[in-house]
Amino acid sequence: MARIPDAFIDDLLARTDIVEVIGTRVPLKRQGREYSARCPFHDERSPSFTVSPIKQFYHCFGCGAHGTAISFMMNYDRLEFLDAVDELAKRVGMEVPRDTQQRNVNPDSIDQYAALEAANTFFRRQLGTSEKALEYFARRGVDADTQTRFGLGYAPDGFSALRDSLGTDERRMKLLERVGLFSRNDKGHVYDKFRDRVMFPIHDRRGRTIAFGGRVLDPEDSPKYLNSPETPLFHKGRELYGLWQVRQANSKIERLIVVEGYMDVIALFQHGIQQAVATLGTATTPEHAELLFRNAPDVYFCFDGDNAGRRAAGKAMESVLPRMKDGRQAFFLFLPEGEDPDSLVRHEGASGFDLRLQHATPLSQFFYDELAKDVNLSTLDGKARMAERAKPLLAQIPDGAFGDLMRQRLTELTGVGARGEAPVQTQPSRTRPPPVSTQKRSLVRSAIGLLLQQPALALALEPTDTFSVLRQPGVPLLAELISLVRERPDITTGALLEYFAEREEAPALQKLASQNLPGEAEKWRDEFLDAMAQLEKQTLQQRIDELQAKQREAGLDDEDKVEMRALLLRRLAP
Ligand SMILES: [Zn+2]
Repeated sequence: MARIPDAFIDDLLARTDIVEVIGTRVPLKRQGREYSARCPFHDERSPSFTVSPIKQFYHCFGCGAHGTAISFMMNYDRLEFLDAVDELAKRVGMEVPRDTQQRNVNPDSIDQYAALEAANTFFRRQLGTSEKALEYFARRGVDADTQTRFGLGYAPDGFSALRDSLGTDERRMKLLERVGLFSRNDKGHVYDKFRDRVMFPIHDRRGRTIAFGGRVLDPEDSPKYLNSPETPLFHKGRELYGLWQVRQANSKIERLIVVEGYMDVIALFQHGIQQAVATLGTATTPEHAELLFRNAPDVYFCFDGDNAGRRAAGKAMESVLPRMKDGRQAFFLFLPEGEDPDSLVRHEGASGFDLRLQHATPLSQFFYDELAKDVNLSTLDGKARMAERAKPLLAQIPDGAFGDLMRQRLTELTGVGARGEAPVQTQPSRTRPPPVSTQKRSLVRSAIGLLLQQPALALALEPTDTFSVLRQPGVPLLAELISLVRERPDITTGALLEYFAEREEAPALQKLASQNLPGEAEKWRDEFLDAMAQLEKQTLQQRIDELQAKQREAGLDDEDKVEMRALLLRRLAP
């Protein structure tokens, strides 16, 4: 997030009308100063989703969804942060600062994308002239439409077909090597990496080719599958094959099905199950899990029923547990011996495969089945071992109903409570705002609350900030907010929240920002200045108390006495 200057984000959010951005996607109704709608992020009958043009942010009182125009684009259009920024910048005609853009937009990577696209075109053209490659796809039942949709191709035999065709100059050669299309032997000789293979281009989330997978035609050849190596553009632990096509085919993705191979994705797709993606020869990583759930609430993992499949499922489970926020579900489907999704959907059709998905094992059940393996739950030792295994895993589940139910299940199974002993998350959770216990604390809170409603209030303050030494919770945050507004006087509520988005204070700030304060904006100013004046007074008193304590213990020196007199006089002032 830090890669784009804050000033640019502020400027972008200031020029973007959040009501317009959301309004083109969700029907909004005007209600006083705000707009309301039925929440696009959860199912509801009466509208609890509000958009504030003044604060430039949205908030749902039902599910807690909230954020700026940027986060709306990320959540609704399922864009990455930088892509959402790009998209909004385009709307208002701003140019995202070049030198600060991520790897995928620097001029060098533009050339790399071009080289990959040229290779893609080359492979696709070769497919048209290769009888055996066409025959391969025909045999696997892949029709011409699907071939086009997935950009399938063929890399010819020999060591230099691609090289001869595209590597026409030194620069091009270097580019093609950087994007992983060449190999190099001991003598430094460069040759085509993919030879006599059918080719599957791998797309990023914007549909650009970033790598390739190649599969042998002759079952005797090996390796059966070959992927591009990791390159500046391609990190296999972060990409999912087929996600681009899934997003093209579904306006709303209800579920994602994670399979193992390219052909599984393609066969399912052609049979009408257009929500399948594949990991690229790796176990499911935490990045994958995040990407999956960002795109769909329900995720189904398909694995072979053998031991390797169970192990892979175990890995996937570990990656998804920390991402199991409420509203998300994960399922595990184990396939019969010798079958894969490709063969199954051809034998049983989409309805047969769907039926299997409907009977997939929920994460909760798979979790306890796995942990109970080789454990005898009728013995005390067995129960203890089970609890021992479960606790560190359960501790990773985010706060919420799912986590509660999982812990409850452990208690049912073993009689051991998992709460309390398990590491407790230290982040303040949305459902439990910091308690407003003392009067002092509520003063700081109300100042922060007012600032979040109307950041410009900070500009009305004398720039002394003596209060910042006050030893009270929230004071450093208040000081930070004030200095932030001074630096960026036009900052909106939404932009402030964006600034704190990654910080642990974010949920509390968001809660304060979404309050609707009673009264008029003019009154808020007085209220704010009054709160700040009281904080200054408390600071004064804190120092007086310190000096008095010192007086009792060690006595005051001359300098202290002068200070004390000044403080006492100031305390008397109105
Ligand atoms: Zn909602």
